[in-house]
Amino acid sequence: MSIERAMDILRKYPLCNHCLGRLFARLGTGLDNEERGRAIKDYLLMRIHERILNEGLSDELLNDVKALAVSGHEPSIKFLSNMGINVSPARCYVCGDTIFNRLNEWVNNIVNSLRSLGIEFRSFRLGSRVPLDIQNRELSITTEFNISSAESIKREINRELGKRVSAMLGVSFNREEPDVEVVIDVNTGSVEVQIMPIYISARYRKVHRLINEEGQVKWPIDRVIQAYNAQDVVIHTGGEDPMGVRVLGNGRPVILQVVKPSKRPDVNDVYALLKDSGYDIVLDNLSRVRASAVVKMKARVRDYVITYRVLAITDNSVTNENIKSLHDYFRNRQVVQVFRRGRRIRRRISMVYELDGRVIRDRLVEFLIRCQGNLYIRGFVHGGLGDVEPSIAGTLGFSVRPVEIDILNISD
Ligand SMILES: [Zn+2]
Repeated sequence: MSIERAMDILRKYPLCNHCLGRLFARLGTGLDNEERGRAIKDYLLMRIHERILNEGLSDELLNDVKALAVSGHEPSIKFLSNMGINVSPARCYVCGDTIFNRLNEWVNNIVNSLRSLGIEFRSFRLGSRVPLDIQNRELSITTEFNISSAESIKREINRELGKRVSAMLGVSFNREEPDVEVVIDVNTGSVEVQIMPIYISARYRKVHRLINEEGQVKWPIDRVIQAYNAQDVVIHTGGEDPMGVRVLGNGRPVILQVVKPSKRPDVNDVYALLKDSGYDIVLDNLSRVRASAVVKMKARVRDYVITYRVLAITDNSVTNENIKSLHDYFRNRQVVQVFRRGRRIRRRISMVYELDGRVIRDRLVEFLIRCQGNLYIRGFVHGGLGDVEPSIAGTLGFSVRPVEIDILNISD
């Protein structure tokens, strides 16, 4: 895109400095669009002036100076008035002169909205709603003149507002992970603010065996809410614990979504507040993560490798011989679980990688089972009604009832 095209454009459409400069946004570093638009108009006038000096004044050259003057270029207006020609500038074809003289007004609206929240934030992202007719007129010019170096008016508005808000509040602009998001409606000047959640990844251990089916597991969520002065906390876990199972060892992955936090303390300071034996859940390894970490964690659950300890009561005595044959049989063995819902049948395949066991007393056996994260552990032990195949009970040929299950390790 050559700057020469600028004259073609201005002959047809009066553009303010911002809207002209934006069409050539990729040219000239260290200039903002206003300066760039102004520089292009200065350059065009100087070239016309040079040609007038060399070739004499023609209608063509005079009309070009008039086009520059109509676009609000002061030196061109002055140039013409020296010749006794008065030209008054027209409104910018794209923005109608309704945008860039109102930036400071909008900055004040934004700053007031953010201050009135009374929350702590260090970064923000800013967006704007720009009337469609403005965007369409801009697009029609870039299309008509085949311009590839343009920046959109939205981007310029967002950047210009962002710079000023950043300077006034001493907070940084962050496109990826802002603490708050601001959207200004350019039509009405109204501002919407969204407080972005904080995501904290951790490992949790469930240290008590909750045998009461109604029993709610007590997470230290009230402490987290307090630490962030937040509205709520949503718990995203990597998989679910079977009822009554303790989670020991390195714990299970979890991400806490802190909703509408008013404070943003360091996770290490929050960690200190969670140390209390009054909760069923112990959280460790806290770190800040992005929102996308939740989806990534959920996608990994199938591939977790979980080590269970299962204490089981059997109908018949279990011999060391039995244990050895179970151990040999369940080495990298596929287990199929069948779900029936009405006439629909769904199969889930899980891997059992390794199984060990020891007889504690006559009919009391402890198993150590290393398996894929999606294995239905209880069903794998007792066999269900034949809907988990093969199972420990099915392989032994008599009933095996799990009485205690613990998760000893989760590799994620
Ligand atoms: Zn304009």
